Amino acid sequence: NSVVLDVQDLTISFRADGKEVPAVENVNFQLNKGEILGIVGESGSGKSLTSLSIMGLLPKPPAIVDPASSVIFNGENLLELSDTKMRKIRGNQISMIFQEPMTSLNPLFTVGQQMTEAYRLHHETNKKKAFAECVAMLKLVGLPRAESMMKNYPHELSGGMRQRVMIAMSMVCQPNILIADEPTTALDVTIQAQILKLMKDLNEKTDTSIILITHDLGVVAEVCDRVLVMYAGKIVEKGSVRDIFKNPKHPYTKGLLKSVPDIRQKDSKLYSIPGNVPKPGTIDNGCVFAPRCEYAIPACGTVSPALQKVSSEGQMVRCLLYQGEGGEAAHGGAVVK
Ligand code: SF4
Ligand code: MG
Repeated sequence: NSVVLDVQDLTISFRADGKEVPAVENVNFQLNKGEILGIVGESGSGKSLTSLSIMGLLPKPPAIVDPASSVIFNGENLLELSDTKMRKIRGNQISMIFQEPMTSLNPLFTVGQQMTEAYRLHHETNKKKAFAECVAMLKLVGLPRAESMMKNYPHELSGGMRQRVMIAMSMVCQPNILIADEPTTALDVTIQAQILKLMKDLNEKTDTSIILITHDLGVVAEVCDRVLVMYAGKIVEKGSVRDIFKNPKHPYTKGLLKSVPDIRQKDSKLYSIPGNVPKPGTIDNGCVFAPRCEYAIPACGTVSPALQKVSSEGQMVRCLLYQGEGGEAAHGGAVVK
């Protein structure tokens, strides 16, 4: 497993009431070559800020990146690169797709104009060759009428088609890493499933590593290899998809799992975890999840849990229920319930 991206101690803060309040705190993870890593959490969890910082798209100011943070890609710390260098990496080696492709496609240009331009920004080649490559990529993402679609404007396409075009556009430069932030949230369930399958296929065919950001653990189950669960700016659990689904540990992960819609029970009422993600800096003591946690014990109000290993396969959890004595790594996930 070679590591393509190594995020170390990522801390991003904002200024509020005269102090710096972290919205992402000491986030550590590695993305391996060819894997699909899910980052899951509700809005306000810090998952989008994390991905924007990898892309060099954080608005600084107001965002303040802690100088001890690093995002290592190809031996370089992306957080320290100049805008010019970062722009070269973006789109070329690291691409990003967003929830609503309308905002990232230019309404004034045809699909073909935009795609070939993106392609030629990253490849020294003539228009004809670029056109052919783009058509091939549109076909690969399941758009069979690719030649004629090159002449369409974005508004002439359905939402699902636009999202495919976006994916094709981001893949045309053969990125090492594709970051997809809620890529299917705006789409209906059938199209959503198709797009996820497409991403999985592309990942298998091209070896592009993918970071998939979502609030939906159901989406993660479809396509991901590993998962990070984030809450209020911190990783609260991480592990393989199998560990997280078969043996979730953190009360927040359990709550998210309960809120995954069961497609076999159409009319069942969807569970949602009561309460909201706290605003950064509003909980100073103890576990940030405590106000919403149905397993909380008195210590949760005062002791801030550390992220600790709970299995030999690398599953980690940030919860006092699993903390070994003396704060040492837990013993195979001893549970107090
Ligand atoms: Fe719940 Fe306490 Fe664990 Fe936090 S540390 S998740 S409040 S049990
Ligand atoms: Mg988001």
